Amino acid sequence: MEHNSTRFDVAIIGGGPAGVAAALTAIAAGMTVAIISPQRSHRSPNVELLSGRTCSLLHELGVFSLLPDQGAVECSGIWSSWDGGSPVERLAPFMPRGAGWVVDRTVFDDAMLAVAKARGAQRFAGLANAVEFHDDGDWRVAVQTEAGRLGLRSRLLVLATGRGARLRQSLGAIHRCEDDLVAFQLWDETLASVAARDHMLTLAAAERGWWYALPHPAGGTFTGYCTSSVHAREVHASDLRQWPAWHADTPVPTSASAAPVVSRRWRGRSASVGWLQPGAGHQWAAVGDAACAVDPLSGQGVAFALESGMQAMRLYAAVRLLSANWQPEYLRWLQEVRDEHFQQRRQHYLASAIPAPFWQQRRAGSLAPDGG
Ligand SMILES: Cc1cc2nc3c(=O)[nH]c(=O)nc-3n(C[C@H](O)[C@H](O)[C@H](O)COP(=O)(O)OP(=O)(O)OC[C@H]3O[C@@H](n4cnc5c(N)ncnc54)[C@H](O)[C@@H]3O)c2cc1C
Repeated sequence: MEHNSTRFDVAIIGGGPAGVAAALTAIAAGMTVAIISPQRSHRSPNVELLSGRTCSLLHELGVFSLLPDQGAVECSGIWSSWDGGSPVERLAPFMPRGAGWVVDRTVFDDAMLAVAKARGAQRFAGLANAVEFHDDGDWRVAVQTEAGRLGLRSRLLVLATGRGARLRQSLGAIHRCEDDLVAFQLWDETLASVAARDHMLTLAAAERGWWYALPHPAGGTFTGYCTSSVHAREVHASDLRQWPAWHADTPVPTSASAAPVVSRRWRGRSASVGWLQPGAGHQWAAVGDAACAVDPLSGQGVAFALESGMQAMRLYAAVRLLSANWQPEYLRWLQEVRDEHFQQRRQHYLASAIPAPFWQQRRAGSLAPDGG
């Protein structure tokens, strides 16, 4: 594997929230940082709610002002119909930093990367396609850029490649998949819904999964539907014609009643829950979804991404000059966070009384693909 003369203390693969949080923390601790992140070829609409916890972490990183500056929308609360009973409204006043902010993730991620660069990270626009640990104690990372292939060296490698943890095999780690969730998302620019008007996250359980809706920062409503891959295959098979019927019994506002339009515009993505084993090793750590992809239902994915990036780099920074071991503490922390997440997740599913297989399976604690 070729390499140029540039050597960094840390090479971070992936420029999402986890990678950037790791970069900002490493820079604050005096380290030199490379971030490898592909140039965006197209802009896919992806809207998420950054929870109050996420906002606190953004404050800690000194980047909270990005939210209002980038046109994010403050969320006034959550309106959920979860257990088959009447919808419940939870407003933000009792949450320390409000219910959160709704962001266009493309805008947010680009702004975060720009801050990392401004604070001193060197960005390599491309895909890392190979990593290797050498006897001299450095990693070599090969990066495919538009201009060709280049290489760089680093002391520490941070895997922040998101759900599925790309490049994990080179680290000898395995990906444990705990669920087969799939999400379908639609941005309807014209639908001024309840969610958009009241700036609320709307959440509703349905027979085969759950729906959510958020006000899109650029106007209209962003709707998502999470289901199992088994049901997702049925969706494809029926060309989404069943959706209006599935959707009819939920209170989530959307234009899903227009089936022909729906089949053209919904975008599918994996929402599977899983983690990397191990989540760190000799001079490397996984952070964010690459370390543990939490259930989207929790709304805590970005919070975990930020916190794991910060935590890994703080532990490393504390001992790196002594060449002491920092991984055991990071692995313990990951385990605790993961255990807590899975416990809370189970409680959420237990709170739904819907008798359909999707829910029965999750209430029973067996989260393997249902029906197949
Ligand atoms: C349907 C759905 C809804 C969600 N809603 C919310 C929500 O409302 N609130 C919330 O907090 N969380 C939500 N999440 C979770 C959230 O999206 C993730 O937890 C979060 O994006 C994780 O950040 P990350 O930096 O670990 O990974 P990512 O954001 O996935 O970033 C990984 C980056 O690595 C890059 N990359 C991958 N491979 C390579 C490579 N080889 N070389 C270079 N770069 C590479 C990718 O291009 C990407 O930019 C949701 C998830 C799903 C599936």
